[in-house]
Amino acid sequence: MSKYKRILLKFSGEALAKDNNTIDPKTLDQIIDIIKSALVQKVEVGVVVGGGNIFRGAALTQSGINHVTGDHMGMLATVINALAISDACKRANIETVVMSGFAIGGGVCSPVDHNKAKQALNMGKVVIFSAGTGSACFTTDTGAVLRAIEIEADIVFKATKVDGVYTDDPVKNPKARRYEKLSFDEAIAKHLQIMDTAAFALCREHNLDICVFSMLDNPKTLSDILGGKPLGTIVGN
Ligand code: UDP
Repeated sequence: MSKYKRILLKFSGEALAKDNNTIDPKTLDQIIDIIKSALVQKVEVGVVVGGGNIFRGAALTQSGINHVTGDHMGMLATVINALAISDACKRANIETVVMSGFAIGGGVCSPVDHNKAKQALNMGKVVIFSAGTGSACFTTDTGAVLRAIEIEADIVFKATKVDGVYTDDPVKNPKARRYEKLSFDEAIAKHLQIMDTAAFALCREHNLDICVFSMLDNPKTLSDILGGKPLGTIVGN
């Protein structure tokens, strides 16, 4: 039985890419397994996905594109990824609703509405939020925290390639230790690159914990954490 009733799962766009695939089908399957492992524990799941596998505003600016336009392109990339995750969910018989931070017509997805999102979550549907915050100059990490606050999620789970936050780079330093828990102040003072400062500030103000966990080595990691195993790193007040 999970101690969390409702969670917000954040996947980076980069996590979706592998080899020559912008959206790798096997990685999509892994994501579905992770979502399923939470649903079987009767946990309500909101998802936010990034767009870094397709476009990042900062990279586009370097090639001469206007900063705000680049961010709009980055946000549209997150919509593409959200549609891919939604489609994979549907193929696995998981009902979804895709919402966007800015208006997109044509039946592609609906605008973010926190009441409708909570209703859908209550019904066991997975709500996939796209387009980050809906505004330029932010990241999808901030978007994830914002949506988590809106749907009153108990925690944000940030899926990464590493199994938590370490004292040093665990690839380069075999003596690096994983933190089980960290405060926001410690994370900021130690310059640990977990989330950007806007996301951190929102979490701190709204007393919302973040759990960093690995989506790679074992699809059961999230469900183990939900079940109470001390895996990953929890950052909180
Ligand atoms: N972005 C934005 N506002 C937001 C979220 C994202 O402008 O609220 C843009 C920004 O250009 C960013 C890109 O969308 O680089 C993709 O998002 P992000 O880099 O956060 O994706 P991730 O690193 O999670 O794949």
